[in-house]
Amino acid sequence: MKCDFSLKHYREILKLALKSGFVITNFRDFDKVSNRPKVIILRHDIDVLPKRSLELAKIEKSLKIKSTFFVRVHGQYYYPSGQTLKILKKIKDLGHEIGLHSEARVLAPVFKMDLADLFLSEKAILEEVLKCKIITASEHGDLGRPGNFWQNHFFKKIPKEKVGIKHYSQEYSQFHYLSDSLQNWKDGCVCQNLARYNHFQILIHGEWWGKGAKAEMTKLNKTYAKI
Ligand SMILES: [Zn+2]
Ligand SMILES: [Zn+2]
Repeated sequence: MKCDFSLKHYREILKLALKSGFVITNFRDFDKVSNRPKVIILRHDIDVLPKRSLELAKIEKSLKIKSTFFVRVHGQYYYPSGQTLKILKKIKDLGHEIGLHSEARVLAPVFKMDLADLFLSEKAILEEVLKCKIITASEHGDLGRPGNFWQNHFFKKIPKEKVGIKHYSQEYSQFHYLSDSLQNWKDGCVCQNLARYNHFQILIHGEWWGKGAKAEMTKLNKTYAKI
């Protein structure tokens, strides 16, 4: 088994996790499996390209896995309308949870809006266009964020109940956290870590997975760097 960012290896990772006795869940259904001995919360932050996340969503569906896909409302590369909305609806219709990938903390000062109000607006837009209730959130932070960005996260300022949220990613910080950031697993690929811990929060960025993903991202980044 070769560790890479191919769809083939994505399927291998999930199959190995299931074979190793892990329950793989989204945030929405976590309470139903919280007493199981080995649990993976599987999370996708859709930062750039929803179409690549859809491919991963299909693989998960074929393995009867339902994860959480966090969606941006006013992202630099996409927003939930037109063709993108169709893709997001497909992900939802496969049974996955849709969560809000909020940018309220960065954008509230830009829009001169109240922080909680902007968050609620983002949530209302997603609920309206995708016809689903949003109860889970994570925050988007671009790579240039200051070092204390995650320490001072949104839910340290606003109680989750105030904005209708039941789960947010930082609540699960006791779980071993693995992220595929820029095709770089800091502690090795998921498949190399499964024997080391019993509880994981695994963060996937779909735009880095599948054939030609790296080249596509390099091209996109160059295009945006010129603007
Ligand atoms: Zn691997
Ligand atoms: Zn993000």
